[in-house]
Amino acid sequence: MATERTLSIVKPDGVQNGHIGHVLTVFEAAGLRIAAARLVHLTSAQAGAFYQEHAARPVYGELVDYMTSGPVLLLVLEGDQAVARNRELMGATDPAQAADGTIRKLYAESKGRNTVHGSDSAASAAREIAFFFSQAFDLT
Ligand code: ADP
Ligand code: MG
Repeated sequence: MATERTLSIVKPDGVQNGHIGHVLTVFEAAGLRIAAARLVHLTSAQAGAFYQEHAARPVYGELVDYMTSGPVLLLVLEGDQAVARNRELMGATDPAQAADGTIRKLYAESKGRNTVHGSDSAASAAREIAFFFSQAFDLT
């Protein structure tokens, strides 16, 4: 057992389309515990800083605009191999490439409006969790 934590975000389309409940059910059914959660409407500064690694990509401006278009649900998931498990449950970035049964296959509208974010490595997870959540206050 390699217990890990990872950051998940239910993106604006997922919140607006009423998929929070099912997304949480998918995580819990897969054995991932919800270790922290917060619903927020990100500012452009916050979304821009969170996605700083993508700042040079053409899609960056569109991504920041989209991620600030409505509330998002920030989640810390915890469980065995949580980083990889969450990525499996999410499916590929492009819903046309996402495997059957994945969250993005079910709900994503496009490569951009793709319902969920998930950390892509243990290092990303540590950085992303620390960006949104405080060890002293939010996480036990
Ligand atoms: P993932 O979220 O699967 O880890 P990336 O880290 O490559 O994917 O991209 C971050 C986010 O940027 C994607 O989830 C998506 O919202 C957006 N994005 C990536 N590529 C595109 C694209 N070609 N067109 C529109 N949005 C994109
Ligand atoms: Mg990514």
